[in-house]
Amino acid sequence: MKKLKFNSGLFYIWPAGRLLKYLKGNNPGAYQFLILIPGRKLAGGAAGEVYDRLIEARDSLDYEIDGAVYKVNDRSAWPTLGSTARAPRWALAHKLPAREATTKVQSIVPSVGRTGVITPVADLAPVDVGGVTVSRATLHNLDEVHRKDVREGDTVMVRRAGDVIPEVVSVVESRRPDDAVAWSMPDRCPVCGSEVARIDGEAAHRCLGGLFCPAQRMGALMHFVSRRAMDIDGLGEKLIEQLVERERVRTAADLYALTPGDLLGLDRMGEKSSTNLLKAIDASRETTLPRFLYALGIDQVGAVTARRLAEHFGRLEALINADEAALTEVPDVGPVVAESVRRFFDQSHNREVIDGLLNAGVTWPKPQDDGADAGEAPLEGKTFVLTGALSAYTRDEARSRIEALGGRVTSSVSGNTDYVVVGEDPGSKRDRAEQLGVTLLDEAAFSELTA
Ligand SMILES: [Zn+2]
Repeated sequence: MKKLKFNSGLFYIWPAGRLLKYLKGNNPGAYQFLILIPGRKLAGGAAGEVYDRLIEARDSLDYEIDGAVYKVNDRSAWPTLGSTARAPRWALAHKLPAREATTKVQSIVPSVGRTGVITPVADLAPVDVGGVTVSRATLHNLDEVHRKDVREGDTVMVRRAGDVIPEVVSVVESRRPDDAVAWSMPDRCPVCGSEVARIDGEAAHRCLGGLFCPAQRMGALMHFVSRRAMDIDGLGEKLIEQLVERERVRTAADLYALTPGDLLGLDRMGEKSSTNLLKAIDASRETTLPRFLYALGIDQVGAVTARRLAEHFGRLEALINADEAALTEVPDVGPVVAESVRRFFDQSHNREVIDGLLNAGVTWPKPQDDGADAGEAPLEGKTFVLTGALSAYTRDEARSRIEALGGRVTSSVSGNTDYVVVGEDPGSKRDRAEQLGVTLLDEAAFSELTA
């Protein structure tokens, strides 16, 4: 068998007699081929198999191919084989299936993804596109539906390219039914009934019932347990998946009601690991307001914004009741974030899940629990410097405790510093504090002050 180079197309190097047998449809799978693609070599294989592989390989090529040519490599046989009126007998074109086809849009369905984004999907009369039966095609977003003006009942051109989901290319307007109407996004989530909104500046619409919506359950739970959120160790994707499938967990609040009986019998979940997991879930009840806010998975609210919101409002109730104007007073919070926060807390379903979490005992240090002046910020105006490692808190946690009570943390000790919190292996800041006569707090004293 010889390798041959050609300018384009694919050539199976094949003895004349065998080609003729193949042309007659005699057992095409019985022969071996070499398949050549410019710049890329695929393996040899039997006729039908090579053709199938070519269909698969097509998606990974950076140029379009529309078929293969089988050629007899024994040139001396060409004159003998001769030709028909239209083409030589020593070569055969074998077309790949077309990757575009027309079909009918039966309906346009809003599909809710894991992050709450709602994608309009065309439900199609099944059609063969490039060897694959296609019955759904994405329309991406509402703008796209309107730009292409796709309507239910329309006949459309559908294309499949690469590994991407098939898409609607265009509408055959001449075949539009008289009663076809322009499509619009529903204003309630088709899965959970929460409000649907388009956040300013985004093409996407989303369901606002993030904590409650079954379509978003997996994503919301994965985020809730993640390290910067509630940090529940040992609760990975596989476990969450099983708990969701068995309907043991519908919302984050259900995690706190799990029993050993719920966990035993799950994959790779023995007695020891289930005890550890329940302990980790239990321990996560004691958290901080920034972590809790971040864990809620509010669109546009990352860990940093969650901290800013917690610092500014101090209490969850104050944040829940804040209007958009009050929200934009928070550093780094613009109108887009404010709108997203406001809408999240406006969803009664989300509020129910938050209440469920609080009832399950999720708690964090609250300003009103401190001192005689309930509602005051007892550390208002006090400046702290942290040095050395604390055993019970990370730097960020120590900082949030101070800030939650109205205090401020700075990086260097000066005459204006009120307290220096001294942990294990303190640096020169401790010496400086002593020189200046600033009050030193060890960890126990710090815990007491910020309890
Ligand atoms: Zn929903």
